[in-house]
Amino acid sequence: MSACPPLQPVLDGILAALAEFRGAEGQVASYIPALARIDARHFGMALVTADGQEAVAGDGALPFSIQSISKVFTLTLAMQHLGETLWERIGREPSGTAFNSLVQLEFEQGRPRNPFINAGAIAVADRLVTLFGGRAKAELLALMAALAGEPVAFDEEVAASEAATGFRNLALANFMKSFGKLDNPVEEVLDLYFHQCALRMSCLQLARAAAYLSRDGHHPLWAGRAVCTERQTRRINALMLTCGTYDAAGEFAYRIGLPCKSGVGGGIVAVVPDRLTLVVWSPALDATGNSALGRQALEMFVGRTGLSVF
Ligand code: GLU
Repeated sequence: MSACPPLQPVLDGILAALAEFRGAEGQVASYIPALARIDARHFGMALVTADGQEAVAGDGALPFSIQSISKVFTLTLAMQHLGETLWERIGREPSGTAFNSLVQLEFEQGRPRNPFINAGAIAVADRLVTLFGGRAKAELLALMAALAGEPVAFDEEVAASEAATGFRNLALANFMKSFGKLDNPVEEVLDLYFHQCALRMSCLQLARAAAYLSRDGHHPLWAGRAVCTERQTRRINALMLTCGTYDAAGEFAYRIGLPCKSGVGGGIVAVVPDRLTLVVWSPALDATGNSALGRQALEMFVGRTGLSVF
C-alpha cells in the first residue's frame, strides 16, 4: 500500500475545503422531531488508526443519533454468540430496494436480504432477544461501552419517537412473524430495534468502537480477547461494502471503495482494513438517505490518502 500523509492535516484540510457546503445540500431526516431539529451545518470527522493514533476535526466529538450504524454492532453481537446459525434467517445480498421495503420479504418468505436493511436488523434483534431476553438492551449498551471505552446511552426521546412513528417497521416485523421468522413478541423485538437506532455517539466514539473492524477482530481495549474472529470481521466488512449504504452501495464502492455503514442521523462509519476506521457526520442527507457532505468527505479522504481496499 502507498505511504499515506499525516492524517490530522488531512481531516483539517477536508473540513476546510467543505466548510462552505455545510448544510447546503440535502435534507436533515424529518420523520421524528428529535432529528428534524438538528442543525444541518454540523460537520465532524474522526479516525482511529490500527496502531492507535487518533485524529478529530470539526464536530467530531459531538454525539449524534447513530441510527442504522447500530446494525453493524448488533450484527457483531449476534455473530459473537450464534456463529453461522445466524444466517439461517438472513441473507447476504444487496437489496436493490429501499431500506424499509416490504416487497422482497414477500418474495423471500419473510427472509430479509441482508442484516443492514430494516427487516434484516429486526431479524437480528429477534435473535438477540432470544439470547438475552429482557437484558438485550443492557447487553448492547455494555458492548458499546466496552468498544467505545466509555459509557454510551440511548436517547430515550428518539427511541420513543421511533416507536410512535415506526409503522413500517411494525409492518415489517409483523410480516416476518407471519412467516414464522421471528421467535419473540414483535413489541419486544422492536423495543430493542428502536433503542439501537437511538444510540447517541460521537464520530470519535464510533471510530474507537469500530476499531476491531480494521484490526482483524481485535480491539485495543480488549486485552487480547477478540471482539470477533478474523473471518467474521472480513464478512462484516464485506457486508458493509455491498449492503451498508442503502441503495447507493454500488456508487460508494465505485467512488470510495471502502466498507461503509451509514445512518439517517447523518453518520457514516468507514473501514480501511488493517489501517484505520474513519467516521464522518453531517446531518443533511442526499436522495439515497446517506449524508451528502459525509459522502463527499469520504471521497476526498480516499483521494488525498490513496487508501482503498482496491
Ligand atoms: N430508525 C429509522 C428506521 O428504522 C432509520 C434507520 C436508518 O436507516 O438509519 O426506519
